[in-house]
Amino acid sequence: MNLKLTMSKIERVCVFGAGTLGWQIALQCANHEHPVNLYDLFPQALKNAERNIANELESWGQAGNFSAEVKNSTLQLLKFEPDPIKAVAGVDLVIEAVPEKLELKRTVFQELDATCDADTIISTNSSSIRVSLIEGVTKRMDRVLNTHFYSNPWKSRIVELMRGSMTSDETMASVGVFMRSIWVLPLIVQRESTGFILNRVWRSVKKECLHLVDDGVASFEDVDRAWMSFYGTKIGPFGLMDRVGLDVVRDIENVYYGESRDPRDLPPRLLLDKIGRGELGVKTSRGFYSYPNPAYLDPGWLEP
Ligand code: NAD
Repeated sequence: MNLKLTMSKIERVCVFGAGTLGWQIALQCANHEHPVNLYDLFPQALKNAERNIANELESWGQAGNFSAEVKNSTLQLLKFEPDPIKAVAGVDLVIEAVPEKLELKRTVFQELDATCDADTIISTNSSSIRVSLIEGVTKRMDRVLNTHFYSNPWKSRIVELMRGSMTSDETMASVGVFMRSIWVLPLIVQRESTGFILNRVWRSVKKECLHLVDDGVASFEDVDRAWMSFYGTKIGPFGLMDRVGLDVVRDIENVYYGESRDPRDLPPRLLLDKIGRGELGVKTSRGFYSYPNPAYLDPGWLEP
């Protein structure tokens, strides 16, 4: 099969779900000249998305590398659409970004399958649910896949693509070309994998760091210092867990444990105790560090 000849071009996009990742993905698409309909079940979420996008564009403008002209053309390409039927009408790709609940995603996919054009590709941004668990509710199993973006795609610049059981080569190729057009690098997950690629690497790092501290081998500060010094990063694994949210970290560890049943995969006591005290990270102003001024930002943090 000659993919170049059969591949359809993705121009128009709908992002279905306008929360943390939804508005960011929509902005990335519009900023790279694709018309986008952003939909959410809740009108307030659409309003918040509009405000978040305006703030983000404002900060790009202040940073000096974003002209008023590009800002206007980006905004013109973005439509905040409260009607789900209109949101998907005539689009080539729908990126679903609703909360991480299997039954919800299956319901949404079923609705999308019924309302989208026959040739529209539908993807899920899920962090831990494989599309093969969702695809069966659709009649287009060759045109569904996982497209896993990371937050702030204009900085993270990668997306992981993973097939379902019947996703076609043409679908993978079209989506891959589209991702490059919005300036994110598509990384191909060659076999189904919970955690895709990067999150599996992060999972091992996170798990080992938590056990190092839980076992009393090192303080979390020294683990972060070791990481930050050696890899030259501005944040260490514990700072990063605080950003993600310690309750979210626990839930993700439980997903891995659910698959492996290995007791070392269970969230360690150290993490559960913090959550029990309501210390969930940046969002509660306290996790491993205290916010808004965590110690790892102190000028002397890495000094001998
Ligand atoms: P979120 O809770 O911030 O946003 C979800 C949005 O979906 C909300 O605005 C909600 O109102 C809306 N919604 C709920 N039900 C809906 C429905 N039936 N139809 C349309 N919209 C509906 O969640 P999020 O963090 O943006 O995560 C979305 C998806 O992206 C999840 O699958 C998550 O695993 C994945 N993801 C999140 C991150 C992250 O850093 N937050 C990173 C990568 C992937």
